[in-house]
Amino acid sequence: MDGPTLIIVLALIAALTAVSQAILHLINPEIRGLRIIAVAYAVGALGLYALGLRTSFPIIVLGNWAIFVCYALLLAGLRRLAGLRAHVVPLLLLTAFGGLPTMLFDDLVAGADARVVIHSAMIAGFSVPIAWTFTRIPGVVPRINAVVFGANVLIYGFRAIWTHTHPSTDEYLLGGVMTRVVMLWSVFLLFELATGFTLMVSEFLRAELRRQANVDPLTGVLNRRGFDLVASKMAEARDAGPTSLMMIDIDHFKRINDTYGHAAGDRVLAHVARVMGLSLRGEDILARFGGEEFVALLPGCGAEAAERIAQRLRRELAEHPAHPTATVSVGVATDPDGVPLQELIRRADAALYRAKSEGRDRYVVAGIPYQPAEA
Ligand code: GH3
Ligand code: MG
Ligand code: MG
Repeated sequence: MDGPTLIIVLALIAALTAVSQAILHLINPEIRGLRIIAVAYAVGALGLYALGLRTSFPIIVLGNWAIFVCYALLLAGLRRLAGLRAHVVPLLLLTAFGGLPTMLFDDLVAGADARVVIHSAMIAGFSVPIAWTFTRIPGVVPRINAVVFGANVLIYGFRAIWTHTHPSTDEYLLGGVMTRVVMLWSVFLLFELATGFTLMVSEFLRAELRRQANVDPLTGVLNRRGFDLVASKMAEARDAGPTSLMMIDIDHFKRINDTYGHAAGDRVLAHVARVMGLSLRGEDILARFGGEEFVALLPGCGAEAAERIAQRLRRELAEHPAHPTATVSVGVATDPDGVPLQELIRRADAALYRAKSEGRDRYVVAGIPYQPAEA
């Protein structure tokens, strides 16, 4: 296939990809960046078409510039997809570094080499931050894309240097070997990238589904399913050492609901969860076990440390009360030597039951006799 035909085929592929990315955006409007990526492909398709036509100098300038805009938009869209900030206008202004110099080489034939050098250098330049951005996104597919764009830097960088040092023989009117190699690479790049984005979107959605399945929407802490998942992973990875667990239950919560309404009850729940989360350590796992009952798993925490955490948690709640105010009862249990988690939960639950029956608004440590004067 000759150069001009290849480039028109490329333009068609880019146009079709633009459509598929636009559909991907319409189906997943919550995923940021896809719209810009679809526009990038559309602009790229127009640029390739213009370069394939090669009818006049202005068309060639526009074609080149459109490719730069395509890469700038690709970078902007990708940054949004990665959750990074993207300044579209400055990125578009950057394309002038390639677009304006191209205008200086207005001889269709004699200027071809210089234009190819500028074009290749610009693409290599934009591919560096694109490859870097892919490394910011977790997963296998972004990593593959980072490598592909790393290769893009090398290929276009080499093309720029080669064309500069071997003037006028290879590149003229898209006939040269190097140009065809670059075109074939571009076919691969377009396909790979489009598939990559689709796979990345499906990976994002899977992660979001996993998150939604494991997190309680009202309080933002883990739900019981999430707790079981994290706790069992921790049990597998656990070194010898103590673990403690607290069961926490809001006192007379039904009364709060009945007096102030369910919405106020919801706010109290969210507030209590937030304050508890802040008073725990980073490695602790807090979950809403059901209703107005929470569980906190404290890895590597012996009996004394667990008691201090229970005191701190209750103190923080007293200092930062919910509106309407609510107190909590806490049952604390410590496992010095590896009893199953279910047993630890049972002991903490029994201690919580005691805290309730002894008057609420207190903590009780499992296995410790009744102490009326509680902190
Ligand atoms: P105790 O001090 O013995 O724990 O008394 P309590 O009233 O807190 O306990 P009880 O189990 O009698 O009542 C719990 C209440 O929690 C009943 C239920 O309507 C309410 N509840 C459960 N889930 C939610 C929720 O998501 N939002 C609100 N607002 N209330 C909830
Ligand atoms: Mg309660
Ligand atoms: Mg309860």
